[in-house]
Amino acid sequence: MRCPFCGFEETKVTDSRMLGDGEQVRRRRECLDCKERFTTLESAQLLMPRVKKRDGRSSPFDEAKLRAGILKAIEKRPVSIDLVEQAIRQLCHKLRACGEREISSAQLGEWVMEQLLNLDEVAYVRFASVYRSFEDLDAFKQEIQKLKQNLTKSEEL
Ligand SMILES: [Zn+2]
Repeated sequence: MRCPFCGFEETKVTDSRMLGDGEQVRRRRECLDCKERFTTLESAQLLMPRVKKRDGRSSPFDEAKLRAGILKAIEKRPVSIDLVEQAIRQLCHKLRACGEREISSAQLGEWVMEQLLNLDEVAYVRFASVYRSFEDLDAFKQEIQKLKQNLTKSEEL
């Protein structure tokens, strides 16, 4: 933490105490250079990161859109809505826990595919084909190959 008085980069913590229910920590710090003291307040930040699209624009994470995308992928597949909701909860948790202010839509897509792979392989392939939009047919073939290998592996277990 940079000293707000002189800008020196090293400070030491002289006192640390929890506030309220422990959701915040108040710290007294002393600058190792100018010896000035100051207080910092720390709290965990569990903010939903924004999603950055391929064209560089970013928008707030949209849970409804995520749900719609997943529902579309599992259309007419034997997947219970409970499992879908569970997958969405896990994705939201992962987003909050990643600690990033912004993640790429590509990253989000990968995470969604991981979840779909657990739910239903047809849904996975559907989502992957829309998501990757067949721009690169080889990459898609590789993905199917990988999926097949994973399935073989899990059958062996
Ligand atoms: Zn200082």
